[in-house]
Amino acid sequence: MEVFDSQLKEHLSALEQQGLLRSLRVVEETHGAHIMIGGRDLINFSSNDYLGLASHPAIAAAMGEGARRWGSGSTASRLICGTTAEHAALEKELALAKGTEAALVFATGVAAATGTIPALVGRGDVVILDKLAHACLIDGVHASGAKMRVFPHNDLAKLESHLKWARETHPKGRVMIVTESVFSMDGDIAPLRAIVELKERYGALLFLDEAHAVGVRGTGAQGLAGELGFADRIEIQMGTLGKALGVSGGYIAGSRVLIDFLINRARSFVFSTAPSPAVAAACRASLRIVQSPEGDALRARLHKNVCLFASEMKIGVPSSAIVPVILGSKERVLHEAARLQNEGFFITPIRYPTVPRNTARLRITLSSAQAPEQILSLAAALKESGLRV
Ligand SMILES: *Cc1c(COP(=O)(O)O)cnc(C)c1O
Repeated sequence: MEVFDSQLKEHLSALEQQGLLRSLRVVEETHGAHIMIGGRDLINFSSNDYLGLASHPAIAAAMGEGARRWGSGSTASRLICGTTAEHAALEKELALAKGTEAALVFATGVAAATGTIPALVGRGDVVILDKLAHACLIDGVHASGAKMRVFPHNDLAKLESHLKWARETHPKGRVMIVTESVFSMDGDIAPLRAIVELKERYGALLFLDEAHAVGVRGTGAQGLAGELGFADRIEIQMGTLGKALGVSGGYIAGSRVLIDFLINRARSFVFSTAPSPAVAAACRASLRIVQSPEGDALRARLHKNVCLFASEMKIGVPSSAIVPVILGSKERVLHEAARLQNEGFFITPIRYPTVPRNTARLRITLSSAQAPEQILSLAAALKESGLRV
């Protein structure tokens, strides 16, 4: 026990010396863009609550109503007796929203990725992954036992050469491309049209993670796939219910047979207690709002905020609600984040291993919940300290 503890302590102090130690901040209060930490009122530029739905009264009420009706827990895994009418309705509505035959809800986006990828590929197959893909996608590929090939971020020529190689060396295996539509730490988007064409030319599958695109790109909860009209050409659309949708959970949308297969084979689905029915009820309420005129208005406000920030910072209009300020050094990022916090802005410093070494950054996220004056004051504070996007 003592040896074990001292080994862990050693590891933590090594992290601290490298400027990579992380710890939890306790949020004392939050609503919309307001967040209180350490007794201080701050404006939140760190959340993934792009449409402010995490504090929407109708969604919170649906969660309360769901708890009154169903109780607090689902009592079992989905395949035992944890699939309530609430879960079934949510999956039907999600499929409609995504333009697919069917959808399947997982407890988190991480569970959706780490359960689905190993269910679909394994030894003898090849997965070709964007270099900046989220950790859960990489974990899913590792767990699958498939051969992994990484292409430089959004590099179509290298992606094609991996596809060629995979087809030649694994003529009988599955070849699956895994990428994101909006990249979580950079905010740029994948060249989806070209990727869809390539995967069709080489007879590959596409697994697309839309975590930061749902509710932000396209209308309703379409994401980038729906925006570009590819909903029925992408085999596996993944996303989360905890970002723009403001609740929690993850999903896979695709064909009926894909979903039936995952119900039998995705281990994170089969062996996990179903999400609470109250959570499913809240997700349904959120989906309804996202697809309503109110949702359109929230998205329009988000877009206006993104444009305002971009014009103040003299950059082109970003493809998403994520704008990184890449500073490189982790010390500098920690210093600037602390300074901005003193001025009333909550922006988390992002370091390795969330992003590659020497690309530490302030990850600024915009939301419809922020007021234009708050965005103007952040832009002024950034410019004052010589920070450029
Ligand atoms: C957040 C995120 C996930 C994980 O989703 P959770 O619902 O938070 O588990 C997956 N992929 C990307 C790109 C993400 O940003």
